[in-house]
Parts: sequence; structure tokens; C-alpha cells
Amino acid sequence: MSRLLVIGCGGVAQVAIQKCAQNSKVFTEMCLASRTVSKCDALKDKLKEQGSPVQITTATVNADDTADVVKLIKEYKPDAVLNVALPYQDLTIMDACLECKVDYIDTANYEPEDTDEPVWRAAYEKRCKEKGFTAYFDYSYQWAYMDKFKEAGITGLLGTGFDPGVTSVFVAYAKKHYFDKIDTVDILDCNGGDHGYAFATNFNPEINLREVSANGSYWEDGHWVETKPMEIKREYDFPEVGQKDMYLLHHEEIEALGRNFPEIKRIRFFMTFGQSYLDHMRCLEDVGMLSTTPIKFEGKEIVPIQFLKALLPDPASLGPRTVGKTNIGCIIRGTKDGQEKVIYIYNVCDHQECYKELGSQAISYTTGVPAMIGTALVLTGQWKKPGVYTTDEFDPDPYMEMLNEFGLPWVVDENPVEVG
Ligand code: NDP
Repeated sequence: MSRLLVIGCGGVAQVAIQKCAQNSKVFTEMCLASRTVSKCDALKDKLKEQGSPVQITTATVNADDTADVVKLIKEYKPDAVLNVALPYQDLTIMDACLECKVDYIDTANYEPEDTDEPVWRAAYEKRCKEKGFTAYFDYSYQWAYMDKFKEAGITGLLGTGFDPGVTSVFVAYAKKHYFDKIDTVDILDCNGGDHGYAFATNFNPEINLREVSANGSYWEDGHWVETKPMEIKREYDFPEVGQKDMYLLHHEEIEALGRNFPEIKRIRFFMTFGQSYLDHMRCLEDVGMLSTTPIKFEGKEIVPIQFLKALLPDPASLGPRTVGKTNIGCIIRGTKDGQEKVIYIYNVCDHQECYKELGSQAISYTTGVPAMIGTALVLTGQWKKPGVYTTDEFDPDPYMEMLNEFGLPWVVDENPVEVG
């Protein structure tokens, strides 16, 4: 029996909410709250028509405003809050959870909406120098809540999507069952799906394009090595998808894994991109459309990347037209009983199967399912631990079992081809 408040009702949220409804032994009551409440109402109606036993209410909330979130939490009295809005709202929602002593779960690392804000900018410049990577997001802001969450006796589960989320659980599972010591981890994110558009993003365009157009970086021998955007390219033949080009990116789970598994000598993250995506992105960047700095246009202030988001297809609308599969996982090298070994733990997910089941494409699906799983493990007490933690810091076994049960079965290949 539990009451969950879900904030956000976009592509990822719609999967997470429908998966919570499939797990109605754990999720008995839910409040769906977002900026645009009509999306919450439509999903509530869909679940009701399907005969879901979950008691669902809806609400409007401005998650940029801590007081507004506190008000809603006090009214609804949830046992936990699942944040599937945007990374911009992580800290306001964490503050509200702290004030109300309610557990907090999210799928993405905090980053500010306005990267020119002077106080944030100064801290960012300092961090770039000290840590050696220039991504707009890092864990310091959320890890700073550790003592406050401990004192309040509440759990903060950070980044329970696929990557980060499942990928970090894969590493914890490998360490528990396959290795005495891990030496290297390559996280591979392959989307072999085709939506038929020359250019579209599979999740929130603003967050996606910020991430992909930034410098890459990887963790080696206890420090960051930064690269230019798309500087490191590899080809890989993905099981069930085929040969793809992939590029090294900075990614948030590298930071958490580097801290929590100091034995790992090198951690890299690669994502596949087609040439059309890269050409469009470069062109948009060259003309300034990826900028987060507001400009004046005909007397109004607009943020170029937000205007671009309004022009691009809504990721939640890609479901019916996307065909193909994703393959996401971790190639892990290390030693067991003195012997060197390598494994590839991965999941393959089919876009059309996801659409048939929940009306969504596989990127939202592969993020929304783990969001439900992490939330269920916190609510049932299996992953309840006061403080703030990433998914690699808990027992991976119940999470791995639930991946199999709720639509993301995984495979362990004990003889994989490695990335050069
Ligand atoms: P969408 O843009 O589709 O959805 C975001 C939702 O949040 C929308 O419903 C939006 O409302 C709502 N929202 C935005 N701002 C506010 C606000 N101030 N107050 C209340 N609601 C708000 O994004 P996605 O579903 O694609 O992504 C959701 C999250 O998942 C993001 O944080 C993203 O980074 C993360 N993600 C994580 C992945 C992982 O593997 N870990 C992979 C993919 C995504 P409205 O409808 O009004 O716009």
C-alpha cells in the first residue's frame, strides 16, 4: 500500500506511471501532477478505461517553485515523490521533500536552466578547473543533500533511468556476481530506431541537445580526460541491431561510478548517432540555435534552444513511427579468482513492442520502467536508506529481477567483442 506523487507528465513519466499501474500491489494510489494538467487527466482517463485498480488524482504544479510543491505534498501526503519533470527542477523538488520528510526519486542529474546566472556560473567555472570536465551537470549539488536527508530520515534515489540507472546497477551486479575486481567499464547506448524524420530527439530536446553538443570526457586513473564534442568515434556491432558508429560523451553515471568504485581504472560512455542527426546538430549549433542565452526577438525575449524545442517533434509523439531496437549495456573487464574476464550485460528493447504495450517509443520506455522499479524498491523498503544515493549503491539483485519482470530483460554475454 503506498501513495506516490509523480511530477511531470511527458514521455518518460507516461511510461513510469503506466508501469506503476501494472505494479498495483505496490502502487495503490497516485497523484499525477504537472505544469500542463490536461496530460495528467488524459493518462488518468486511459488507465481508468483499462480498469486499473490504482486510485488516481491529478493536480497542477509549478515544480520550479518549492512552496508550490510543498503545498501539494502537504495536501496529498504521499509516501514518496517521483520527479520525472526536468533536471532543472531537481533541487526545488528535493527541498520540498526535505521540508515534508518524504522520500525523493529522480532520473537525471541536476542542471540549471539558465547557465548564465552569475552565482551558478562562478561555481561552475571553479568546478571545471578543479574537476576537469565542463558538462553543465554534476552530482555536487545533489550529493550536498546527504546529511540533510540523513537527518530527516528520508531516502533520495538519484538517476534511476536506464543510463544513468540500469547501467550503474549492471556494474554493481557484475561486481557482486562476476568479478573480484573491475578494471574498465565501457557503457554503450545504441539506438537503432528510425522515426523517419530527418531530425528529432528521443527525449526532451533541450536536455538532449545540451548533452550531446557538449565536450566529451572519460574517467581514467582517478581523473577526468576531456575531449572535444564527438572527437572519439568507434564502430561496434551491436547484438540484434548491427554495426553502428558511436561517439564518446560525458555522462553522469561515470562520475558516480568513479567515486563509488575507486578500483575502476577507466570508465567511458559511448552513444550511437546517425550522420543526419550529427549534420543537423552541427548546423543548428553553428547558427546559434542551441544557445541557452536569451535573445531579444521582435520585442520579446526568447531562448533559442527553447524555440527550437517548440519546432521539433514532441518525443512522446514518436512512438507510432519509430521502428527498430535499442541495445544499451556495459562491457566490463576485470578479474575473478586471478583470471582476467570480460562480460557485456545489456538489454535489447524494440520500439514497436513498446508502442504496442504502452503507446511510447523505446527511449521513454527504457527510462520509465527503471523509474518505476527504483521507486518501488524505495517504497517497499528494499532500497530505503536515509541519505542520497545512486543506483550502484544498493543491492542490485531485486532491481535486476524486476527488469526481467517488467519488460527490460537483460543478457550476460561472457565472450563479447571489446571496444578499441
Ligand atoms: P518531457 O519534456 O517529455 O517531459 C517533461 C515533463 O515535465 C512535461 O510534462 C513538462 O510539462 C513537465 N515540466 C517541465 N517543467 C515543469 C515545471 N516547472 N513544473 C511542473 N512540470 C514541469 O521530458 P522527458 O519525459 O523526455 O524527460 C523526463 C526526464 O527524464 C528528464 O529529466 C530527462 O533528462 C530524463 N531522462 C533520463 C534518462 C535516463 O536514462 N536516465 C533518459 C531520458 C530522459 P509540460 O507538459 O507542460 O511541458
